[in-house]
Amino acid sequence: MNYLVLSDIHANLTALKAVLEDAKDYDAVWVLGDIVGYGPDPNECIELVKTLPNLVCLLGNHDAAVIDQINQITFNPTAQQAIHWTRSVITQGNLDYLRKLPDSTTVGEITLVHGSPREPIWEYLLDIRNATENFEYFDTPYCFIGHTHLPTIFTLQNNQTRANLSVPEKNSQFKLEPRAILNPGSVGQPRDRDPRAAYAIFDQENMIVQFKRVKYNIEDVQNRMHQVNLPLRHIQRLVEGW
Ligand code: ZN
Repeated sequence: MNYLVLSDIHANLTALKAVLEDAKDYDAVWVLGDIVGYGPDPNECIELVKTLPNLVCLLGNHDAAVIDQINQITFNPTAQQAIHWTRSVITQGNLDYLRKLPDSTTVGEITLVHGSPREPIWEYLLDIRNATENFEYFDTPYCFIGHTHLPTIFTLQNNQTRANLSVPEKNSQFKLEPRAILNPGSVGQPRDRDPRAAYAIFDQENMIVQFKRVKYNIEDVQNRMHQVNLPLRHIQRLVEGW
C-alpha cells in the first residue's frame, strides 16, 4: 500500500494539482493539516482534498483559526489578514468539513499530527531538544508531522538519549527504522528555499518514505492572490520558497 503524504497545502490549488499529477501511484492519502490559510483557493482545495481516496485529514492551526477554534490573535498580522479573507469566502459546507477534522490520529504504526505529538496544533518541531522530548508523547514507532513547512527527519534509536536531525536530500528515499518523526514539507508554501511543492510517498510494504519535489506555475497563484488583495509578503515568498 502506498500512502501519499501531504501537509500545509495552504489554499494553493495549483501546487496541489501538480502534486497529485506527479504522485500518480497511491492508494490512500494523509493530509497533515492546514488545507487553508495564505493562499487564494481555500474552497477549491478543501473540495479537491475531500475527493482523495482513503483520506485521513487532520486539523492544522490555520484551519482551526478559520473555524474559530483558536484565537487568530496568536497569528502574525499578515497571517491574520489571510485568515480574515478566508473566512469571508469559505462556504458553510467547507467550514463544516473543517470543524469535523481531528487534531491527531493513528493509522497502524504511524501517529499523525499537524504540529507535534505533545501539542498537535501548535508546537513547531524544529530542533533536537524539542524533538527528543516529543518522542515521549506518542506510542507508535513513527510519527508524521507538518507545520514547519520543512522536510525533516528526526530519529531516536534505543540506545540514544538525544534525537538525530537530518534534512532529506531532494527526491531521496528514507528507510523507516524505529523510532522516527518525519515531516514531508509543505505543498503550498515551502520554506526551505526551494519553491517547488513538497510531498512524500510512504511505501508501507517496504517501510520506505520518498521525499519528492515538483514544479508548479507559481505565477498563476500569485496572480489570483493579487486579485483578492492577499498580503504581498505571502505572494512574494512563494517564489523565494521561504
Ligand atoms: Zn502551515
